[in-house]
Amino acid sequence: MSGSRLALVRAFPWSRPRAAGYGRLRPGAGLILPLALLLAGCAAPSIAASAPEQATAFIETRVAQVLTETAPTDAPTEPPTPPPPTAGQPLEFATLTPIRTPLQVPTAGATVTPAATPAAPPTPGTPCPDAACAQAAQHFILERPAPPEAAQYVDRTYGYGSTQQGLREPHHGVEIVNRSGTPVLAAGAGTVVAAGPDDQIAFGPATHFYGNLVVVELEQAYHGQPVYTLYGHLARVDVTAGQSVQAGDVLGTVGQTGVAIGPHLHFEVRVGQNSYAHTRNPELWLKPLPDVKGRPYGALAGRIVDLEGNLLYGQTVVIRPVDVNEATRTKYITTYAQETLNGDDILQENFSLGDLPAGRYSVAVNTTKFYEQTIVIEPGQLGWVTFTVKPPAP
Ligand SMILES: [Zn+2]
Repeated sequence: MSGSRLALVRAFPWSRPRAAGYGRLRPGAGLILPLALLLAGCAAPSIAASAPEQATAFIETRVAQVLTETAPTDAPTEPPTPPPPTAGQPLEFATLTPIRTPLQVPTAGATVTPAATPAAPPTPGTPCPDAACAQAAQHFILERPAPPEAAQYVDRTYGYGSTQQGLREPHHGVEIVNRSGTPVLAAGAGTVVAAGPDDQIAFGPATHFYGNLVVVELEQAYHGQPVYTLYGHLARVDVTAGQSVQAGDVLGTVGQTGVAIGPHLHFEVRVGQNSYAHTRNPELWLKPLPDVKGRPYGALAGRIVDLEGNLLYGQTVVIRPVDVNEATRTKYITTYAQETLNGDDILQENFSLGDLPAGRYSVAVNTTKFYEQTIVIEPGQLGWVTFTVKPPAP
């Protein structure tokens, strides 16, 4: 058990270690066999039997190759050359646009439907002060991008803003894990603005990152800004740029192209621009799951700030069921790892958790002392908590 997990257990006696998840390893972090097999492919079938040092050297070389590959010389535009990622340092991301068609910017008279005006939330730029504001500002408008017979839930080990306890790069989306070949569905109606491999232009920190991807610009704008949904690591792409899609239309199939460990869908929401620097937490956009075995779901979001009101990064939040269906387990999430992980324009949250069975919860953080609040999650609604805390010593 790692030191940080020990500390977690001491701080929260009911805590338990979490399973490994999916996504991109932070360079230099513990590289594991599945990534070795994925990156090695058929070219190095003996890697698993080689000396560990040789395997590690090979993997690190291959990772460097994957992360620094540039576009062919006949590429229509020169992709940005990403800086070498450094653990613990935020990456610089260029603003990127799809290569195949220009962005569909909403214009007056077009098919874009203006976002519904929330009842009485504050204007963008002012964080939500209370639960009523958060509920008025909630916007669960997206369907699950997986068919009903497949897994619908968001993987809990590597949520939006997570680094998986320092192991991986801060996550700009969420994972929905299903076997290869499972259909990937449009989460909302819109226009396909990119479809195909990301080998010529980077949609993430580098090319060859999301593999085969689809980006759909939603019909619905958000406070005047365009909204994009991104579907990454697809095995197959079934749509083309310029095509209109409805929620539930098949965009392709689940795969593990790009930098991925195991087949899964990487799902992102981007607001304002179709770029890696403009992501938002998809759990604030996906409709909470409907009743499952008599358990209706809601969601939770909030802010953890210091005494001056600054957001605190990477703090553990423990969400413990108090008066909820007995099958509900305690959840552990962290506040967003760094400032590149954007909060919602209105809410300005720095943590969020979707698909929370309705009921009463204890929400706790432990910095210099133990802070706890009790909250009731209503079916289909967003619960909201704010903690102002004395931050832990650096
Ligand atoms: Zn992902």
